[in-house]
Amino acid sequence: MRSIQTTGIIIGKRSFGEHDQFVNIFSPDLGKIDAVAKGARKITGSFTGHLETLNICKLQLHKSSRGYTVTECRIEHGFNKIRNSLELSMIAFLLLEIFSKIAQTQEQSVELFNLITGTLTGLEENQNADLYTGAFKVKILNMSGALPDISRCGSCNRRWTEADHINLNNEGHIFCDGCGNQSTENRLTQKAAITWNTMKLIHFLSSSNQKQIQKIKISKKETADFKIIIDIFLHNYMACELKSEKIYAGMK
Ligand SMILES: [Zn+2]
Repeated sequence: MRSIQTTGIIIGKRSFGEHDQFVNIFSPDLGKIDAVAKGARKITGSFTGHLETLNICKLQLHKSSRGYTVTECRIEHGFNKIRNSLELSMIAFLLLEIFSKIAQTQEQSVELFNLITGTLTGLEENQNADLYTGAFKVKILNMSGALPDISRCGSCNRRWTEADHINLNNEGHIFCDGCGNQSTENRLTQKAAITWNTMKLIHFLSSSNQKQIQKIKISKKETADFKIIIDIFLHNYMACELKSEKIYAGMK
């Protein structure tokens, strides 16, 4: 057995046994791990209120051949503003679900940790939910190497000029009008048109920091177009349904 101190965000949990829980944690130096929290469901337990999904915690863990066990836990940040708003909570849970599906088990990453905690902090402080959610999706795709090259036609490889119509199909394939006309399949599955401005926004967000995101001003229409496009990329990459997205859409 060895003892490890780390800071992590609780990205999910599930019950087992009579009083215990498996806690899904992402820590910059351990990556995504599952840890056993014994007695976490006892009302008077020492973890009560600490090991809640969304909390950033200082943790002491024991590592044995059977895995991790939480031995101590103290909340560092609880995102209370997010918890107090039903809409922000739904968005935060959606972000955590995407994060949890894309982050690899035990892959250490300060960058990923900063992305999820920075996005949640932005959401809490500025409440420009659409922009923060969109920026998060662009960045996590970019970090995973799954953000398509949006600077050129995916079929003929020609770089876009401002005069081009940029088309996108359900599979996330990007193509020019000429290539669309040549392929019936592309034409039939065309899903959205990417404007020059949306393309620039995606490119900018892929490398921007939280402060820069805060300063972006875009219209409702641009935000909606941007969301359609980035969700096509995300769904194609993840190839699975997001439970919290369905719930959120149903609620709206
Ligand atoms: Zn083309």
